[in-house]
Amino acid sequence: MSGFNYEKDADGIVTVTMDMNGPVNSMSAEFNPLWKEMVDKLEKEDGLTGVVIASAKKTFFAGGDLNSLLATTSEQKKEFFNTLEDMKADMRRLEKLPVPVVSAINGAALGGGFEICLSTNYRIAYNHKSVQIGLPEVTLGLLPGGGGVVRMVNLLGLQNALPFLLEGKKVVPAKALKAGMIHETVETIEELIPRAKAYILEQKGNEAAAVQPWDVKGFKIPGGNANSPKLTQVITGAPAMLAQKTRGLLPAPEQILDCAIEAARLNFETAMTIESRGLTYLVNTPEAKNMISTFFFQMNKVNGGACRPKDVAPQLTKKVGVLGAGMMGQGIAYSSAMVGIEVVLKDISVEAAEKGKAYTEKLLAKRVSKGRMTEEKKSDILALIKPTADDADLQGCDLIIEAVFENIELKNKITASTEKYLAEGGVWGSNTSTLPITQLAEASEKPENFIGIHFFSPVDKMPLVEIICGEKTSDVALAKAFDYTRQIKKTPIVVNDSLAFYTSRTFGTFMDEGVRILQDGAHPVRIDNLGKALGMPVGPLSVQDEVSIELTRKVAETQKEMGVYGKFGPTESQQEIIDFMISQNGRGGRHHGGGFYEYSDGGKTIWQPLVEKYFNADYDISDEDIKDRILFRQVIETLKCLETNVLRSVADGNIGSIMGIGAPVWTGGFIQFVNTYGLEKFQARCGELAAKYGERFECPAIVAGKIAAGETFQ
Ligand code: NAD
Repeated sequence: MSGFNYEKDADGIVTVTMDMNGPVNSMSAEFNPLWKEMVDKLEKEDGLTGVVIASAKKTFFAGGDLNSLLATTSEQKKEFFNTLEDMKADMRRLEKLPVPVVSAINGAALGGGFEICLSTNYRIAYNHKSVQIGLPEVTLGLLPGGGGVVRMVNLLGLQNALPFLLEGKKVVPAKALKAGMIHETVETIEELIPRAKAYILEQKGNEAAAVQPWDVKGFKIPGGNANSPKLTQVITGAPAMLAQKTRGLLPAPEQILDCAIEAARLNFETAMTIESRGLTYLVNTPEAKNMISTFFFQMNKVNGGACRPKDVAPQLTKKVGVLGAGMMGQGIAYSSAMVGIEVVLKDISVEAAEKGKAYTEKLLAKRVSKGRMTEEKKSDILALIKPTADDADLQGCDLIIEAVFENIELKNKITASTEKYLAEGGVWGSNTSTLPITQLAEASEKPENFIGIHFFSPVDKMPLVEIICGEKTSDVALAKAFDYTRQIKKTPIVVNDSLAFYTSRTFGTFMDEGVRILQDGAHPVRIDNLGKALGMPVGPLSVQDEVSIELTRKVAETQKEMGVYGKFGPTESQQEIIDFMISQNGRGGRHHGGGFYEYSDGGKTIWQPLVEKYFNADYDISDEDIKDRILFRQVIETLKCLETNVLRSVADGNIGSIMGIGAPVWTGGFIQFVNTYGLEKFQARCGELAAKYGERFECPAIVAGKIAAGETFQ
C-alpha cells in the first residue's frame, strides 16, 4: 500500500505506518481509499493479534485537508456528506476489529489526526511538548466531523468534553493523559512502537481490550446521559453561556454544542450521522471559509515570511536597546528577554528604567507562583535586562527600539544622539504609532537602517507587530525587524509608510464613525451595543474612552503641526467632539476622570450630558445601518490602504485587522469579509450607505477592478 506501509510481524501484529504524499499525513483525496484498503485488509487478515497505527512523518496526522474543505461548495453537499460517512464507517470497522488497535502518537495529532486515534482502542503518545493533541476545528469555523464530537462525549462525558470541543483546546501528552484522552505516554520516541506491540501482547486472552467503551454492553456515558438530572444544569446553561461569548455570530460552536448534547442523548450511530450533517452544514458557511482562509492559509503566509525579502540571510537579534521604559518599552523589554535576548532598557533616570524592569519581574513572579516557571529561570531572564540612564550602555546593540513620548522633536533628538552606539549594520526601529517613518528617518545618518516596529498595548499579550518601511528602508532592515518579531514569537505584518500606517488609520475610522452616528442622533449606548453585536470587542465610543479622547486630541494637534491633518477626510465631527468633551467639559476619557461614560467601582454608566446634547429620539436609523456604518467604514479604509499600496498584501490586511484592530472573527478580516459578502453586493451596499450618509462610504475602485477581472481578494 503506497502511502500506508503495512507490515505484519511474527507475533501477528500489523503495523500500519502512514506516509502519505507531501510533508504531512492528512485527509486529502488520497486518504479515503488508503484507509478503506487498510481496513479491508485487516478484516481479512489471518492470525491477527493486534494493530498499531503509526506515522512516518514528524507529525502523527495533520487532520482535514483544508484546501479541499475551502473549495467545497454547497452544490457538493451530498457528495461531501457521503464521503464523510464512508470514512466514518471505515473508522467504525477499525474499532470493531476483534483485536486491540493501538495508536502510536509520535507527533501532533490534531483534528482528524486525533479522530483517527479516538477510533483505536488504546492511545500511547511520546511525552514531548511538540506532540499536541486536540480538536481545534472550532477555531476554523468547523466541527470535528470524523467522529470527534461523538467519541469525545462518550469517552469523557459531556461536561468534560465540551471545553475541548468548544474552545479547540490543544494539550501536550501529559495533560491529555490526565484528561483521559490517551492511555499512556513513553519518554522516548524509540519506545513508542515497541511499547504499542508489548501492550497488544499483554492483552492476549483479554477480549475486552478490543472493545471500545461505548460498545460494551450496558455502557453509560461518564457523568450521565442528556436525561440525567446532573446534566440538566449544563444543558440548559451552556447555550446561554455560549451565546454570551459568541454573540450568536459563530455557527461552529453552536453546532458543536448541539451535536455534543445529541451525542449524550441518542444512540452512537444516530449521533454520528448528526455530526456528519453538522460538518456538511458548517463547511459551506461563509464564517468557515473566512476563518480557514485567514487563520490558516494567510496566517501561515504572513508568519512564513511572504513579505520578508527572500535573499537576505536570517538576522538574529542578540542585544536590543529599548529607549523609554514606559508602558510600551517595558513590555518590549519583557518580550525580548523572555526569548533570551539581552536588553538594555534606557530611560531618563535609572529609577525610571528600573521601574520598567520591575514590570518583567512582576509578570515572571506571577508565572512562578502559578508553577509555570522556576525561580532560576526567572533570575536568568531578569539578568538579561540592564536598566540604565546612560546612552553608552547601548554600545553594541544590533537593534535599538525607541519607545519614548510621541513627539517628533524628542524622537529626532534621540535618534541623532544614540544611533552611534549601534553595532556595525545595526537597525533602528521606532515604535511610533502615528508619525511617518520616512520623516523620522531624516534624523538618522543611515535612513536605510531605519524602520517602524509598531507594537500594540499591552505588549506582553498582544500578538501583532506592524512593521513599517520608510522610503529608504533597506531589505536588510526589513528582514531584521521581521526576524526579530518572529524571534519574540509575534506575528509581523509589513506595511508601507503612510500617515498612521494601516492599523491606527483604520482603527481611527472605527472611532470616528461611532462619533458621527452619535452626532446624527442615535443613543450612545445603542451605538456601542450594536458595535459589539457586530463582533467588535467593544463599541466605538467605549473604545475611544479607553484609549482616551485626549489621545485623539493629541494626535490631531501633532498632525496639524505637521500640516497633514484631514489628509484622509473631513475632521469637523472629530473637532466638535474634542471641543465638547475636552474643551467644554474636561472629559478626556476613562483614565482622565471620565469620558463618554462615568466610571465607578460598580461599572460604568453613560454620561448624561452626552445624551442630552446628541440624542434625538426622532432620529430614524435601523440597527442594520448602524452596524454596517461601523463595519463598512473600516473595510473601506482597509481597501483604500490596499489600493494605495500601504498594505502590501491581502493577508497582511486580514491578519492586521483581526489581531491589531479587533475585526470580528467571523469576517476573517476586513478584506476577506468582502469575498464572502460578495463583491457586487458590497459595491451596491457602499452605494446605498454613501447616498444616505456621505461620500466616505463610496466604494474604492479596487473593488470594481476585481469585479471586472472576475477575481476576489486573495
Ligand atoms: P509612556 O509615556 O508610557 O513612556 C514613555 C517613556 O519614555 C517614559 O518612561 C519616559 O520617561 C521615557 N523617555 C522620555 N524621554 C526619554 C529619553 N530622552 N530617553 C529615554 N527615555 C525617555 O509612553 P508609551 O505609551 O510607552 O509610548 C511610547 C511610544 O510608543 C510612543 O511613541 C507611542 O506613540 C507608541 N505607542 C504607544 C502605544 C500605547 O498604546 N500606549 C501603542 C503603540 C505605540
